[in-house]
Amino acid sequence: KLYNQVQDLKGSIRVYCRVRPFLSAQSNYLSSVDHIEEEIITINTPSKYGKGRRSFNFNKVFGPSATQGDVFSDMQPLIRSVLDGYNVCIFAYGQTGSGKTFTMSGPREITEKSQGVNYRALRDLFFLAEQRKDTLRYDVAVQMLEIYNEQVRDLLVTDGSNRRYPLPIFSFFFPTIYGINLLTSLNVPDANLVPVSSTADVIELMNLGQKNRAVGATALNDRSSRSHSCLTVHVQGRDLTSGSIYRGCMHLVDLAGSERVDKSEVTGDRLKEAQHINRSLSALGDVIASLAQKNPHVPYRNSKLTQLLQDSLGGQAKTLMFVHISPEPDAVGETISTLKFAERVA
Ligand code: ADP
Ligand code: MG
Repeated sequence: KLYNQVQDLKGSIRVYCRVRPFLSAQSNYLSSVDHIEEEIITINTPSKYGKGRRSFNFNKVFGPSATQGDVFSDMQPLIRSVLDGYNVCIFAYGQTGSGKTFTMSGPREITEKSQGVNYRALRDLFFLAEQRKDTLRYDVAVQMLEIYNEQVRDLLVTDGSNRRYPLPIFSFFFPTIYGINLLTSLNVPDANLVPVSSTADVIELMNLGQKNRAVGATALNDRSSRSHSCLTVHVQGRDLTSGSIYRGCMHLVDLAGSERVDKSEVTGDRLKEAQHINRSLSALGDVIASLAQKNPHVPYRNSKLTQLLQDSLGGQAKTLMFVHISPEPDAVGETISTLKFAERVA
């Protein structure tokens, strides 16, 4: 028996927006956000973009006072559908400093209250699995990958071996056959797949991933803003009476910063990074936009990110594009380009 948690009234692509609060030192700034309603955000636009205001529509808008709990409870039905065999992708998009990592993981020092979506999601999956244990048996395992300059790295290694090779992606579609080994449907089989059964396991792994992501980064050279990181949760459920298998998979993606860099100001490695990021974010936008328009051709092959997520984008899969904006007036150019990106995929 399937547990249908999700009412599919709005289709399989949702777009949310979250506005970060001012960080304390800037609290006397005037916000570029004019006002927020449940599903609409209105921005004060400078003259360059046509003076006045401009509104954008979303499935949901979270203002600066929304808590981590508020955000999670809205996403909970989507996340729970993984246990029913759906594939889910959640993307955090926005310029560096807009709050992507805060939403997905939390602040630098994470407390139980400030835990982001990824911790809460796993905790909730364990909770639900426990509730259903008389009828269903669930196995949960995670992978954590980083895409930097179009190369895939494993973040769940303890010996530094992830710095040697880019990992290949196998983007085949595997038919769902009862009893098939979970391993055979992995599209990055070379990356560690770690079974988890408790929140403590998850916290330990996130810390490891975080540590590996920081390798090579200095304060001024924060690589985490220039790579995509993807936490993938693989779930397999077996119905104890019928023996049926449900396999679902959820990708929680903290994208690279979407800000445009000035080509006249950066050169060499920095320019190459910027070009990779621009290309992969626009490839992601193209894929989601063509899915939203029900276009028969979906250009998955144009970036590593969309190849990696191919079997979780489109079809029966559910996608949440969660865009983040900074409220500072001097960020309004990036804010508007973020909102336009979101408008295109909605
Ligand atoms: P990004 O990952 O997009 O570069 P961060 O998540 O690192 O941005 O956020 C930048 C700073 O703002 C961090 O210090 C973070 O803790 C803080 N921050 C972001 N969003 C919020 C929020 N909703 N409430 C409080 N602080 C936030
Ligand atoms: Mg970040």
